[in-house]
Amino acid sequence: MNETYAIAIHGGAGALSKGKLTPEQETEILSVLSTMVEAARQHLAAGESALNVVQQAVRSLEDCPWFNAGHGAVLNSDGGHELDAAIMCGHTLAAGAVSGIRFSPNPVDVARAVMENSEHVYLGGAGAEAFARAQGLPQVDNHWFTTPLRRQQLDTAKAVEAVILEPTASDYKYGTVGAVALDRKGHLAAATSTGGITNKKFGRIGDSPVIGAGTYANDLTCAVSATGHGEHFLRHVAAHNIAARMQFGGQTLHAAATAVVFEDLPSTGGEGGVIAVDARGNLVLCFNTEGMYRGWGNYEQSAQSRIYED
Ligand code: ASP
Repeated sequence: MNETYAIAIHGGAGALSKGKLTPEQETEILSVLSTMVEAARQHLAAGESALNVVQQAVRSLEDCPWFNAGHGAVLNSDGGHELDAAIMCGHTLAAGAVSGIRFSPNPVDVARAVMENSEHVYLGGAGAEAFARAQGLPQVDNHWFTTPLRRQQLDTAKAVEAVILEPTASDYKYGTVGAVALDRKGHLAAATSTGGITNKKFGRIGDSPVIGAGTYANDLTCAVSATGHGEHFLRHVAAHNIAARMQFGGQTLHAAATAVVFEDLPSTGGEGGVIAVDARGNLVLCFNTEGMYRGWGNYEQSAQSRIYED
C-alpha cells in the first residue's frame, strides 16, 4: 500500500456572505467539518477504501442539520423533501445514483446499494424508494428531514417569487454535500448528496446524482463532487469535463478544475464550486461564489476547514 492518501469534503457553495453566520455558528461549522475530515483521514491511514470513506463522510454530512442533505435538506414547493445522491468508484467505474427519494435518512446509502446490489446505475422516485425498502434500508417520515431554518427559507423563497420570477439571491438555494478521496491503494471515489434547491418544482433533478455532472470518479484522472446551480453543472457536464480536460487535454487537476469553475460555468451564469482529488493526491477546492463549506486533509496534513476565500 502507498503512503499517500487524501480527502476533501464540502457542505455546499453559495452567497455565504461574511456576517450572515454568527462567530459561534462559524466556529461550530468549521469544527464539524474538521472532525469529519479527521475521521476520514484516520480511516484512510488504516487502509480503508476511498469508496467506503466517501460514503461514510457523506453520511455524516447528511446527518448534520447544517447542510442541505438528509436531515436538514431544503424544502420543495409543495413543502416536502425530495433527495438525490450518487456515489462512484474510480477503480471499477461502478456507480449508483438515486433521485427524488423521500423516505431514506441517508440517500448515499441507497445510492451505494444501487451500485452494489442492482444491475442498474440510476433509480428514480417511487422505484428507488421500493428498492430501498426491499434492501431493508431505514425509512423515516418525510417530515423527519424538516428543520425550522428550511421552513423559513421556503417561506422566503415563496415570498420573493411572488414579485421576482427567478430569485437571484442564491444564499438560500444551495448547500449540497459531497466527498472525494484517494486511498492507499491508489483508488479514487466520489459521492454527493442533496435536497436540491429550495422551492424546486415538477420533479426537478439537479446535477448531484447525475454521473459526470455533479459526481464523477476515474482512477485515470480524478474524483469530483460539485455544488451549485445544478442546471449549469448539467449543461457543462462539469465533473466529467474536469476529467476529460486531464485525460484528453493533458491539463493538471488544478488547471482543469479552475477552467470549469471560473470559465465554463460562468459563461452561462453558473454559480458554484467543486472539490476534486487526482490519482497523485493533489487536492483542489474551488468556487466562484462567496463561499463554500469545505474541509480537507491528507497523509501529511491534518484536517483543515474554511467557509470563505482564504
Ligand atoms: N447542485 C445542487 C442541485 O442543483 C444544489 C447544491 O449544490 O446546493 O441540486
